[in-house]
Amino acid sequence: MEKHYKLKNILSEIIGNIKKQDFLVYFRKISIIDITDNSVVFGTVSSFMKDNLEAKFHSVVLEASKKELWDKITNISFKVDGEIDNPSNTNAVDCQKFLKENHKTSKLAEKESRSSVTAGAKVAANANARYSLSNFIVGADNQLAYSACEAVTKNPWKSYNPLYIYGDVWLGKTHLLQATWNEILKKYRDKKVAYTTADKFITEYVTAVKKRNVERMRERFRDIDVLVIDDVQFLSKKEQTQNELYNIFNILYDSNKQIIISGDRAPKELTELEPRLRSRFEWWITVDIGKPDFETRLAIIQEKAREKEFMIPHDVAEFIAANVTENVRELEWVLNQMIAEYELTGNTPSLTRIAQKLQKLSFTTDLLWESKRAEKRTTSTIKSYEDILDAVSRHFGIEKEGILWENRKKEFMLPRQVGMYLLKTKMNYTYERIGNIFNGRNHASVLYSCNKLDKLLKKDKTLLYEVNAIKDQVGI
Ligand code: ADP
Ligand code: MG
Repeated sequence: MEKHYKLKNILSEIIGNIKKQDFLVYFRKISIIDITDNSVVFGTVSSFMKDNLEAKFHSVVLEASKKELWDKITNISFKVDGEIDNPSNTNAVDCQKFLKENHKTSKLAEKESRSSVTAGAKVAANANARYSLSNFIVGADNQLAYSACEAVTKNPWKSYNPLYIYGDVWLGKTHLLQATWNEILKKYRDKKVAYTTADKFITEYVTAVKKRNVERMRERFRDIDVLVIDDVQFLSKKEQTQNELYNIFNILYDSNKQIIISGDRAPKELTELEPRLRSRFEWWITVDIGKPDFETRLAIIQEKAREKEFMIPHDVAEFIAANVTENVRELEWVLNQMIAEYELTGNTPSLTRIAQKLQKLSFTTDLLWESKRAEKRTTSTIKSYEDILDAVSRHFGIEKEGILWENRKKEFMLPRQVGMYLLKTKMNYTYERIGNIFNGRNHASVLYSCNKLDKLLKKDKTLLYEVNAIKDQVGI
């Protein structure tokens, strides 16, 4: 327990001194194996991670250890820790979780991710390839993958190598890989920079076998400086090809060439690949891409519309972002449908019309109803405070009286605060008036409740969604 506590302090110190994405990618999971008077032994998941930490972060970790433990520490080392994944090992820390729990709203991290976006925009200003880093929208769920690719374009062969990116279909893997490939091509014209898909690689290999010129293919690949291979999951059951690729990877890796691979799932789950290839990926740098959240989806639609020079009304963009949630390809599809319709009729389709289209594809069943409500909402008349309080009580499944009257039970407190907050922010009522509605409470206690909720909403995303759901219900 003691070590665990110390390790967390050391990690906190490290976070303040290195880039957030470096922390997530290189530290991933770490443990303390031993502490003596003047030395600390850290545990890593693989020898690859160990080598990287030693090479890149030795001094950062040493300084942090000195600061958090004592000055006498002169020596730190890294060792592969076979017990690191053992659930009963309390001396290990999962860095991703740690960062989430402890540095949720780290200003530093935010600033950094923004600046990486603008940097990307600058680089690609004169690129006309369809996929670039500048037209890739960065959100919480793809930030890491984006940053890794951006770092590779800036510093290939040196950082994030080899890199394995994984995520479900249509979440942007090909976009990122091709963008990275494009950037490197432009920057290093004298280098051999290759992009291929696993499918193409298989075909090429099979043809080479047939024509008996495998050796030539081998030579070509072994000579590459940057190798990008998309959709590696398609290699499943192709043992010979996997074997070939395994050897190519080893050679490229040994001669310090850059490798970037994508797959549709984590290396561990690529169970149809040969174990040795799979485990190779496992100890590479792996980053995942998740489904984009609402804000990212909205930004993607706006970006895609901008690329196509189509003005999309904000409520329409929001409606699509709220309802098409699975992947980015679907978002693009809906947008293209809208543009086609616009070109035919000269009108931007109404929400109902879009909903009909989505429904045909059975994105969701009650969209039509949703869209009607949304359309009504934009033209709807003023609500009474009763509507709001009804919605609050319905949402939390409690009696309205419980909210209004002096009831100190915990389950009524939050709904009461939500009710007051909505009356203040949405109806613009004075604190006095709200106090009267809430059974004659005084102005100060209403003020306190509203401020309290305001603070809570900034911290608690789930609560924010709940409050938004209530607003939606009432149409405010
Ligand atoms: P994958 O290779 O993961 O299946 P793609 O890279 O083919 O996904 O992405 C599908 C489509 O979605 C592409 O047109 C891509 O440009 C777009 N896309 C995905 N993610 C983003 C994003 N974050 N920003 C902009 N476009 C995106
Ligand atoms: Mg793809």
